[in-house]
Amino acid sequence: MRASTEPRIAPLTRRHLLSLVGGVAAASALGSFVRGARAATPTPSPAAAPFELAPLPYAFDALEPVIDAETMRLHHGKHHAGYVTNLNAALDKAPELKGRPLEKLLAELSAVPESVRTAVRNHGGGHANHTLFWQCLTPGGAPLAGPLAEAINGVFGSFDAFKEAFTRAAMGVFGSGWAWLVLTQGTLAITTTPNQDTPLMAGQVPLLGVDVWEHAYYLKYQNRRAEYLANLWRVINWPFVARQWQAARVGA
Ligand code: MN
Repeated sequence: MRASTEPRIAPLTRRHLLSLVGGVAAASALGSFVRGARAATPTPSPAAAPFELAPLPYAFDALEPVIDAETMRLHHGKHHAGYVTNLNAALDKAPELKGRPLEKLLAELSAVPESVRTAVRNHGGGHANHTLFWQCLTPGGAPLAGPLAEAINGVFGSFDAFKEAFTRAAMGVFGSGWAWLVLTQGTLAITTTPNQDTPLMAGQVPLLGVDVWEHAYYLKYQNRRAEYLANLWRVINWPFVARQWQAARVGA
């Protein structure tokens, strides 16, 4: 298991650029969703807010009893919405960035003006991470099968061993952050990020993301992150994760 807590922006060597381009292309499934959430107008006026909060792909209560409706309502309608609003506010201060795909902004943060870089990192990351997270969940869960199941068995030993390693990583996030299954250098790996940092910042493609901010579970589970994580496996949308993986491999 690889567990890095602090993705760093590596110097832009040619090799890194190539992997970055591959990574960005590989993130096309996420990218197309994020782009799909943008205003439909092809050439938005500079005053237009380019990013929008897409509705949840299921009802607020659809993940009950694993995640309660009130948590989903607040998490999507307040937290995620806030990231979108604040991302757009940051881009208003750097209009030259408007129209740039979100995953590209995050993968190339060093190209973002310093005056808005932290805002793009935090709120752009928040928008991208939550956009992925909602899709990684589905009412009742959908099972892992096929080539991704084989790949996970190959890398981690078994599905149970993967879940154990993922849970250990997620439990190890101090404070607010995320646990991830990523594709990095062509390999599946588990990693974590603090705050709203995304694996895209480290040239990795996020396949499965699990939010371990307290806002994701506190109303129902209070401080019991382990119980939230144990229950969350019941609502994971593995076919979606598998599609992310396939898209990333094609793009790599
Ligand atoms: Mn969250």
